[in-house]
Amino acid sequence: MVSRVIPVECFDLVIFGGTGDLARRKILPGLFRRFLAGQMPENARVIGAARSEMEDADYRQMVREAVAEFGGTEKENGSQLDAFLERLHYVAIDATGDGGWDKLAGLMRDGVIRAFYFSVGPSLFGALAERLHQHGIADAASRIVVEKPFGHDLASAQELNATLAAHFDEHQIYRIDHYLGKETVQNLMAVRFGNVLFEPLWNSHYIDHIQITVAETVGVGGRGSYYDKSGAMRDMVQNHLMQLLCLIAMEPPSIYDADTVRDEKLKVIRALQPVEPHQIVRGQYDASSEGPSYREDAENPRSFTESFVAMKCHIANWRWAKVPFYLRTGKRMKARSSEIAVVFKDLGHTIFEGDTARHRNILSIRLQPNEGMDLQVTIKEPGPGGMRLVDVPLDMTFADALGADQEAPDAYERLIMDVIRGNQTLFMRGDEVEAAWAWTDPIIKGWEARNDVPKLYEVGSAGPDDALMLMHRDGRRWREIKG
Ligand code: NAD
Repeated sequence: MVSRVIPVECFDLVIFGGTGDLARRKILPGLFRRFLAGQMPENARVIGAARSEMEDADYRQMVREAVAEFGGTEKENGSQLDAFLERLHYVAIDATGDGGWDKLAGLMRDGVIRAFYFSVGPSLFGALAERLHQHGIADAASRIVVEKPFGHDLASAQELNATLAAHFDEHQIYRIDHYLGKETVQNLMAVRFGNVLFEPLWNSHYIDHIQITVAETVGVGGRGSYYDKSGAMRDMVQNHLMQLLCLIAMEPPSIYDADTVRDEKLKVIRALQPVEPHQIVRGQYDASSEGPSYREDAENPRSFTESFVAMKCHIANWRWAKVPFYLRTGKRMKARSSEIAVVFKDLGHTIFEGDTARHRNILSIRLQPNEGMDLQVTIKEPGPGGMRLVDVPLDMTFADALGADQEAPDAYERLIMDVIRGNQTLFMRGDEVEAAWAWTDPIIKGWEARNDVPKLYEVGSAGPDDALMLMHRDGRRWREIKG
């Protein structure tokens, strides 16, 4: 089955920071893949804007090299890439100065969607928003896209929201969390709300606990100076893990519409109980035969920043009363693996004599490496000799079911097309971001006040032993981290 490509309207997309790492690795190769899929309308244009002086031809050459390095598609051929590159333009611009703005204003066309991707550090958001208005470049229908980090605590997030709100309405602001652009994450909503099977069981009567793991094998090498001021709580938990938690835990929205979905997610965040110190483990990776320590990577021999967090939290509402949510994320772990596991309760009674094993239904939603879902079910082991039970996965891997030539767009591609379509469902609203900080701030402040020292874990391991204990104490265990 070939995926259906829904055309979007004509657009001018300006990428501030159009020469940066994010633009070269994700945004521009993603746009090329959408071009190949036939989703970029004729006359749609992409305008790179950054500090370096260069001509359109230089910029196109830079993008040609970026697509060659990060394109990730077998389908490209020279003539299609040439046709895509012709849609590209470049303006040298200083976000905090006056140079380049008139040229950009002159390039913008009437009657097409104007979108502005702020692929620059957040300290420049205010300057960009202000100049877009001063020069009459943004109008009431324009959209801006902003990247994480969206603040480093509640106060800074509020300030950033206020800065953007001075020039743009909330319906124009697209705060990207690329986890929400993943196929599986959206499928989670389809599975929950498009089937009769799951939703009746989706509560404390049938679910024992939920685990969310985002394990990375990469360290902080290369971006240590940024990460060392941030840590896993700010860099991963406050945004990505909490967004996943919201989608798992939210009440069914009455309709699939941006604000209705986001209202439900917000209620989840607001119902999260404060986390006590004994419910959370901070870790930092230590050197092993597989690589150097965090402190070496971050070039800070006295750093107490966490590269790992494991925690147990509770949502104080009827649906989730007493159901623990265990969240875990870390760098330099044994495998790159992200998974949400919904672990159902044990059977109240078994009729199969001699079967002493514990059989549990587990719905596993894999975000990476192989996006898909499976449901662990118990069946009879084939063959004679009585009723021996065995647990097997009921594989719901979409690529198999829907046809192998289905090339799912990468999260960035999908989200950029949603911006052009004006669909904010998969973007964080300002109040969600603030509520998430309001929950994480006291945890981080508590660590700072106690001069908390992270527990060490070896590079290539599953995290500190204390994280295992967090589960063992409750008679549960983490799912294995498998690549
Ligand atoms: P980068 O340092 O590689 O690129 C920054 C870009 O901004 C460059 O094009 C530079 O010319 C431009 N720039 C800097 N100062 C400017 C100014 N005064 N006026 C105009 N242009 C200016 O950064 P990046 O890695 O591409 O990240 C961009 C943003 O995206 C950051 O906020 C980052 O936190 C966020 N982000 C990046 C990634 C990633 O994978 N790189 C992932 C998530 C979020």
